[in-house]
Amino acid sequence: KKITIAVDGYSSTGKSTIAKQLAKALEYVYVDTGAMYRAVTLFAMQGGFIDADTFKVQAFLKVLPTIRLKFVYNEALGFAEMHLNGKNVEKEIRTMEVSRLVSKIAAISEVRQLLVAQQQKMGKDKGIVMDGRDIGTVVFPDAELKLFMTASPEKRATRRYKELLERGDKVQYEEVLKNVQERDHIDSTRKDSPLTKATDAIVFDNSDMGLDEQFDRVYDYAKR
Ligand code: C5P
Repeated sequence: KKITIAVDGYSSTGKSTIAKQLAKALEYVYVDTGAMYRAVTLFAMQGGFIDADTFKVQAFLKVLPTIRLKFVYNEALGFAEMHLNGKNVEKEIRTMEVSRLVSKIAAISEVRQLLVAQQQKMGKDKGIVMDGRDIGTVVFPDAELKLFMTASPEKRATRRYKELLERGDKVQYEEVLKNVQERDHIDSTRKDSPLTKATDAIVFDNSDMGLDEQFDRVYDYAKR
């Protein structure tokens, strides 16, 4: 019987890596909800709603309903890529610039309402692995399996730093660490659905756990 799997936790804890592997092994659909918040952020940037330090919230909220988000499966990559208003933005949404702004956009109630509704629609048929911050608490409080991933900020920053370097982004480790800590803070303290562990979630501290061991454990849970 197919189930719903919610994978939540702090930034760069390897949520997406494990969620993707799990979806592949179980032949489930994988949904990266962070990509949706990132695409909304890119949309706000491109629309000129964020310049320097001012954010034109009201004007942005007016055009928000026109946004079209779509996951398009890429056979070669083995996962779905984010499309914003018909354009593949998978690369653009992963830049430091977007990372710096995304948590502020994700704290806006109207944004969360819109995205949560879309996520619930995507998961209505079960057989889904969804990763994010509020999946087990808000999007699918009845999910059969909930994982909560954590790791030390330094481990997470190192991971994200390597990813960014591999993609050719010129970043400093300190800058990445600061961003990870800043997002943790904003995500955990926002008014609307703050990042917290669902009471029935299984905690995974993978600071010192290899990928294979992590996967084996999670897969066991899913098969139970
Ligand atoms: O998962 P990722 O790090 O790409 O998410 C980017 C940001 O989007 C998070 O730092 C958080 O602010 C926001 N987010 C959220 N709720 C989710 C997924 C992501 O608020 N379900």
